[in-house]
Amino acid sequence: MTNAKIEQVSDSVHVVAGTNVNWAIVTGDGGVTLVDAGYPGDTEAVVRSVREIGHDPADIAAVVLTHAHLDHIGAIPTLVEHFNVPVYTGAEEVRHAKREYLQQITPVQMVQRLGSRRGIVWVGQTLRAVAGHIGMRVPTATAVEAETLGGLPGGLVAVPTPGHTDGHTAYFMPSEGVLFSGDTLVTGHPLLRDTGLQLLPGFFNHDEEGTLASARALAALPAEVLVPGHGRPIRENLSSLLGEFART
Ligand SMILES: [Zn+2]
Repeated sequence: MTNAKIEQVSDSVHVVAGTNVNWAIVTGDGGVTLVDAGYPGDTEAVVRSVREIGHDPADIAAVVLTHAHLDHIGAIPTLVEHFNVPVYTGAEEVRHAKREYLQQITPVQMVQRLGSRRGIVWVGQTLRAVAGHIGMRVPTATAVEAETLGGLPGGLVAVPTPGHTDGHTAYFMPSEGVLFSGDTLVTGHPLLRDTGLQLLPGFFNHDEEGTLASARALAALPAEVLVPGHGRPIRENLSSLLGEFART
């Protein structure tokens, strides 16, 4: 079981750090919206994090998914089974969530990471976090409509950000300026040397150029808080950091 760390980043948004990956809990009228859902091994931590901020898992109005990699969909089968939670993502990502195709790091690419100490640690943590659930998919995922999304707690807006996966979708919360960038734009990862705004290592991105173009588009949004799929959230000085990123 992971010890997830919870950080409140705005009035309505808590970010939870699980196994090298984040999910977020957005509170609002009608309950909470979950943005992403950790690794399969984070399932208990996801449920516990919702309780820890004073809600019941039955309050989860929906999971909105940035993309359907295993480190973002982990708790979804449990939430669907026990709480009948609807799952929304971008229209293209629905096909990925149903595993009509798979755009994910291959076993060979994972083995190649074993050449460094940090890679060995990461592979071990990842294998434990996905154990028994490699074939996980989200058959109930549906394409999110702007009206539905706007009506969920938090009032989010979807931002298509193809690249990391063809259907990757970021989310923006205009009322509090919170940008959920998923894996298009991150601030840290066990396989990255530095922290700060950057892309994930190239082998994670299905389309590297597309990822960069999408990250630049996100950097142009009027965000005050960045909640990435990996790495720490950024609250201080974000607009100048985004401007700097867009110029590189
Ligand atoms: Zn990820």
